[in-house]
Amino acid sequence: MADITISHLVKTYPGGTERATDDVSLDIADGDFTVLLGPSGCGKTTLLRMLAGLELPDSGSIAVGGKDVTYLPPNKRNMSMVFQSYAVFPHRKVRYNIGFGLSMAKKPKEEIDRKVAWAADLLQLGPYLDRLPAQLSGGQRQRVAVARAIVMDADVLLMDEPLSNLDALLRLNFRSELKKIVKDLKTTTVYVTHDQSEALSLGDRVAVMRKGQIAQLGDPLDVYDAPADRFVGGFIGSPPMNFIKAAVSGDGGALIVGDQRLRAPSLLQSYSSTDVLLGVRAENVAVDTQRSSGDVPGTVLVVEPMGSSILLTVEVEGQTIKVQAPPTFRTSPGSTIWLTFSPNSMRFYDSETAMALV
Ligand code: ATP
Repeated sequence: MADITISHLVKTYPGGTERATDDVSLDIADGDFTVLLGPSGCGKTTLLRMLAGLELPDSGSIAVGGKDVTYLPPNKRNMSMVFQSYAVFPHRKVRYNIGFGLSMAKKPKEEIDRKVAWAADLLQLGPYLDRLPAQLSGGQRQRVAVARAIVMDADVLLMDEPLSNLDALLRLNFRSELKKIVKDLKTTTVYVTHDQSEALSLGDRVAVMRKGQIAQLGDPLDVYDAPADRFVGGFIGSPPMNFIKAAVSGDGGALIVGDQRLRAPSLLQSYSSTDVLLGVRAENVAVDTQRSSGDVPGTVLVVEPMGSSILLTVEVEGQTIKVQAPPTFRTSPGSTIWLTFSPNSMRFYDSETAMALV
């Protein structure tokens, strides 16, 4: 079993004024694919490097399969790591690069050959085994780095932005391949990225990090659907979630957006007479050129055809939001359109703390 228990990890770099990780606790089940997601500097690489043993925490602990590994050297942890920079040996053939870790571990030649052939087959590197890394494309080089990690039969696979050096199309293709490979291997995997679409597509679970802490941990769709706070809603999703200033009427029955009164969900009854933030995703706002009851008027500012939809920037009661309209919707800047917020997809946040209301 390679379940991971991270408890109260604190790390401050020498000379650093802020904690790179600030009391992070996280349980990862055996075989799970967990993504650490967050903006630059939020501490995800630091957390990964502490898992790998490349950094030591100031306090807190890490256990794998119930065994404390916090202060074990990297080579005693039975973990494999894939770096963003490929880190392949340029003057050695692909075959050598893939088998490197096994050679270091003094495995028999027969076992190395067998495992290298297996990984090369899995990552479609068979034809390139006798080439040098310089004779490979960026995508193929990154496959070598992944192959080298998976031949090790490690308990845990750690990946630090492994796709970030690839161009957009390669990235998309390799992402789905990687997902399949890691699923089949059933190895506990921790994967760092700042790319929210990568996190949503790959993770069994996503830990969204902010300023050294975990802002939300959950199933990718839950995190997307019900962000725990404004930061998470703004970071996950493209476009980000809209946040609209609103107020709850004195009797709790209406949600007031500017001059408009909408029917308030029952959740809001206990927040009567308070200001709230209404969170709604662009695809959960229906648009119409004709008014019907319960609609909110908006003025179209920008129209962006996206192929499968049209992205509209709309001013609503003095606030700017993004709306995803069907590709057949016709409008132009300056037009008035009518918006309906889908009742089940409205989320509500405290106007001061920006935390979800429950
Ligand atoms: P990125 O996506 O840019 O890699 P990250 O989320 O992985 O960012 P970390 O690299 O873990 O963030 O950095 C967390 C914080 O620790 C940042 O404020 C960073 O400046 C600081 N930091 C990271 N490495 C060091 C170091 N070796 N020495 C001093 N401070 C560091």
